[in-house]
Amino acid sequence: MALSFSAAAKAEICRELPAKSCCALAECFGILLYSNSFQSSGIKIITESRDFAVLLPKLFKRAFDLTFDGYPSLAAPGKLTFQIWEREKVAAILAAFGFDARDLVSLHVNLPVVEEDCCKAAFLRGAFLAGGSVTDPGKGYHMELTTTHQSVARETEALAREVLPFKPKLAARGGAQVLYLKQSEQISDFLTYLGAPLAAMGIMEARLEKELNNKVNRRCNCDDANITKVVEAAQEQLAAIRSLRAAGKLENLPAKLRQAADARENNPSASLTELAAMMEPPITKPAMNNRMKKLVALAKEETA
Ligand SMILES: [Zn+2]
Repeated sequence: MALSFSAAAKAEICRELPAKSCCALAECFGILLYSNSFQSSGIKIITESRDFAVLLPKLFKRAFDLTFDGYPSLAAPGKLTFQIWEREKVAAILAAFGFDARDLVSLHVNLPVVEEDCCKAAFLRGAFLAGGSVTDPGKGYHMELTTTHQSVARETEALAREVLPFKPKLAARGGAQVLYLKQSEQISDFLTYLGAPLAAMGIMEARLEKELNNKVNRRCNCDDANITKVVEAAQEQLAAIRSLRAAGKLENLPAKLRQAADARENNPSASLTELAAMMEPPITKPAMNNRMKKLVALAKEETA
């Protein structure tokens, strides 16, 4: 099965473990705050990304030197669930971030953990891996990070503002807080920042393709409009010629006008340029236009 755009972006980000231990800790922090459950009673991380599932145990080993109590078989289809339920492990993780397991009213982004720029990027990578998604740019531009912790969403927004040249939008959806981007350039910049330059390029390529298609469509619509105008003009001329004949006026017109009327009747869809070339001797397009206008004007006098 082909990877979704989101899964491909995550696979790109998961290629490497963070080089520094400060970043491993910050990436885990992002993962935990954007995971399905991060409480003193236990931790639950659910993902569909196989690449993230491969990275996750290595990352926790590196950051906390501990293993998951419950982990999925990577061969299993669908969503994969990782869990830690042993109290001592949860307490050790909380302590690493400066939280007290007995006093966990509401989690927040503990700033010392994300003080360095390298760690800010790692934190946002973790948040995207655990709670983020990006829409296939062929379907639309949307990238989001979802957390159930209210203050975490606001603090992540502030943190993103420090390292990105734009500000993500914040919205509530159900019981969750969503940080999101809607502009192709911003999504592309954010993916590059997270370490997914290929996905970022995919966004910009899709945008270029869309712009090109729009241009072609505009051109076609424009051509259609011209064709419609030409057809309408030809119909007006044909109607004029018919009414002049019905009134018995056609036969008495000057030879030049009769020749023009004949050419139009025999070639209802010809352009003025084509009709002009049929005249004996050939005339210019403006001259042909004058003859047609004259026929239409005469027919109007007739019916007036
Ligand atoms: Zn770091």
